[in-house]
Amino acid sequence: MMKHIVLLIIFSSSLTSCFKSVDQVDAETTVLVQPFEGMEKDLVDTVLLTFKEVYGVQAYTVPSIKIPDYTFVNIKSPRFRADSLIRYLRDSIYPKHDQVDYVVGLIDEDISTTKYSDYSSRSIKSPEYKYKDWGIYGLGFCPGKSCIVSTHRLKKGTTVENFILRLKKVSCHELGHNFGLPHCPNKDCIMQDAAETIKTIDNVELHLCDDCRKKIGLPIQ
Ligand SMILES: [Zn+2]
Ligand SMILES: [Zn+2]
Repeated sequence: MMKHIVLLIIFSSSLTSCFKSVDQVDAETTVLVQPFEGMEKDLVDTVLLTFKEVYGVQAYTVPSIKIPDYTFVNIKSPRFRADSLIRYLRDSIYPKHDQVDYVVGLIDEDISTTKYSDYSSRSIKSPEYKYKDWGIYGLGFCPGKSCIVSTHRLKKGTTVENFILRLKKVSCHELGHNFGLPHCPNKDCIMQDAAETIKTIDNVELHLCDDCRKKIGLPIQ
């Protein structure tokens, strides 16, 4: 049972699809929002409310926790590994909460993962070329029990209002991957691939399309 990690990455759309079954989401589905140290409480509360509004799930939070030291890297710049963080949330935080179905980590620090090259990059790089440490907005198992969203890159070059909107969108996107939703071709859907730039995030609506809603058992709006 291989789980695919799906990335919301900055400069590439080379993503793994969700091939496994999609979870059914309802009013009993419970999401824990786990902040890491340094995360603003108001932002955590905003994400909680957004999950309730967009997915109709129950959501709650707990006090922030220390970022595990072993997730720190300093390859291109000092930051934390998203792949290590989602494993930590799945293996060390999720089992502590009996009633929880999914854990969404929120972090104020920059996060990164390894980016493997895709076909489109072969003209300039060898197929094996990869970026060892690539800055991202968020990362989540698809399907799976945990995901992480970083506010670090979402703040850049925008207003406070739009930063908060970006945070809502990326949080819903990563949680959608946990439910088993793959990227969606519908242009206004929250599950659209971030593709080339932050502009894609700015252009999507805070909205889950009917195709995606059907897959996870939510009523059509
Ligand atoms: Zn994605
Ligand atoms: Zn969709």
